[in-house]
Amino acid sequence: MGTIHPLEAQAYFERKYGFVEWVKRYSPMDELLFTVLSQNTTDLNSAKAFQNLINAFGTPEGIARQSVQSIANQIRVAGLGNIKSVRIKKILAEIKRQVGSYDISFLSDIGTENAKKWLRSLDGVGPKTAAVVLCFAFGMPVMAVDTHVYRVSKRLGWIDSKISVEKAHDELESIIAPENRYQLHVYLITHGRKICKAIKPKCEECILVKKCPSSLIRS
Ligand code: SF4
Repeated sequence: MGTIHPLEAQAYFERKYGFVEWVKRYSPMDELLFTVLSQNTTDLNSAKAFQNLINAFGTPEGIARQSVQSIANQIRVAGLGNIKSVRIKKILAEIKRQVGSYDISFLSDIGTENAKKWLRSLDGVGPKTAAVVLCFAFGMPVMAVDTHVYRVSKRLGWIDSKISVEKAHDELESIIAPENRYQLHVYLITHGRKICKAIKPKCEECILVKKCPSSLIRS
């Protein structure tokens, strides 16, 4: 049974998928809204829902003025519209109460751990949403664990198979160096989508086949 360290896996992934450079996606507040919309749906649907929201109401201020029902109507394509609209209203209200505006760019000045804690304290923001915002809007060295990162990390033996996805965030950060977290996040998602699929992983096509403890190919 093989094993592979994250750093070694990263080198394999880089050869296979090419170098990944960090690119800012949205402003911090938009990234937060987008990520809440992306919970339990595809990137395509959350992007559509986010665009609907912005087209209809313009800015976080505009969204905050709407009723839960009006927000839900715009985001239905992302699923769970009634739940996510309540979540968005609450998050916006709490940010306004604490910050006095809808600008959360101050998070870049308070350190990664404090920024993580602050975001996670908002109702409806869990470890994954917080990590995605800090990683994609600020370029902070935070490991965001989505369904692919969670599954592939377990198969590679980097985290215990019974660990919760919430705990997996801290666990993976303890074994992946800060400068490698963004790249590995992207690589694990790519690898999970293309090769290490949830049902029927394509081990015969996998570059890690000889080192993976879960490989279905026995030599
Ligand atoms: S060898 Fe199979 S289980 Fe292991 S990472 Fe590759 S596809 Fe996934």
